[in-house]
Amino acid sequence: MRTQRQVVDYSLQKRAVLRELLAGRVGTYDVCDASPYLKNAARFHGEPTDRRCPICRSENLTLVHYIYGDELKQSAGQARTLTELPVLAMTLREFQVFVVEVCLGCDWNHLVEQYLLGRDGLSSDSDGTSEQDAAGAEGAGRRRREAQR
Ligand SMILES: [Zn+2]
Repeated sequence: MRTQRQVVDYSLQKRAVLRELLAGRVGTYDVCDASPYLKNAARFHGEPTDRRCPICRSENLTLVHYIYGDELKQSAGQARTLTELPVLAMTLREFQVFVVEVCLGCDWNHLVEQYLLGRDGLSSDSDGTSEQDAAGAEGAGRRRREAQR
């Protein structure tokens, strides 16, 4: 997606969880704990994949995209289909997307990645953003970097 930025990949954390599981340090009941809400979100807003669940290996994983941000108001924290995201990205300045993979067979679930979407990510020469706006965006970037520390 064109405005996608500040991507955080959680595949290392996921591999760590799977290692713990293989080593028997955690049980499947610890990691296969998808809530009814998450499973509903996967059924109604989820993006099917052709990747097999790493736990039960009998179902394919479904990706759920949760959206967060002040501009979303009452929609914050809701799941959205992948096709809805570019539309939102063109209407809102900035919002956070959390991608969670879910197995509807065994309830395995894990955060896959997070990223920012929204018009703030468009390059300033394409939409004629004023210098003032550019300074504002830079300030926001600095705040985010500070928040990540
Ligand atoms: Zn599974």
